[in-house]
Amino acid sequence: MNYYTSLIFFLSVSAAWAQHQLSLPLCGTDIYISLRGFEDSPVLLYNMHDNENTAAIAGRIMAVKYGGQYVELEHSGDRNIAFQYGKDSIFIDPNRIYTDAGIWLQMAKNKNNDTLLFKEIAMWRDSLLSILNISERSLVIALHNNTNNNYSFCSYGSQGEYEFEADDIYEGAIRDMDDFYFVTDPKIFKRLAAGRYHVVLQAHETLTDDGSLSVYCAQLGIRYVNVEAQHNHLLRQIKMLIFAFQHLVINRM
Ligand SMILES: [Zn+2]
Repeated sequence: MNYYTSLIFFLSVSAAWAQHQLSLPLCGTDIYISLRGFEDSPVLLYNMHDNENTAAIAGRIMAVKYGGQYVELEHSGDRNIAFQYGKDSIFIDPNRIYTDAGIWLQMAKNKNNDTLLFKEIAMWRDSLLSILNISERSLVIALHNNTNNNYSFCSYGSQGEYEFEADDIYEGAIRDMDDFYFVTDPKIFKRLAAGRYHVVLQAHETLTDDGSLSVYCAQLGIRYVNVEAQHNHLLRQIKMLIFAFQHLVINRM
């Protein structure tokens, strides 16, 4: 690339960097979607739980330093989205709605089986997916935080709560079991297992369709990595993201 080509390339890439916020109401409740970075980036960084603030900071930093488009759901500051439907208060987990089966399960938790409500949530989900532009990405990076000693890498080990949701696990060198990658693709698993962090490979045959983004991406064959770290493990989460970028984006297999 000569100087002028480089300059034009730089300008065209720079022009695409943007930061803005959209409103996507669900049954009349305001939900905002903040977007930062290159709109047409092949890499999506996505923070969907509004109470997972370490992940949000890590994602924003990555979008500035390493590229990718960072997208964040903002509403109440809570994990679940709450809204009124008629006289009912409905609570849904924004990581359990990407498949229709997941939406029905969320509605069952609210003791509701109203087809119109299903359609409202499904329409909202479809709009969200089109803003996320998931089908055009070559890598989806979900950013999550968890609580110490609760959900962890061990949940997928022998006799763990989610043992049958994993096809393979790699125990890295780090001591903390709360910080790990969760991936949908054996090639990504192999790449990340070359490092010092724990990695879980989502099950192919025995996985449960709970509507989570990892299930949706697996169904569509979209490369997916969840970078999961304990709340306040900001440096660890950033280091894990940089390692993932280096091995999955910059040195793309
Ligand atoms: Zn989360």
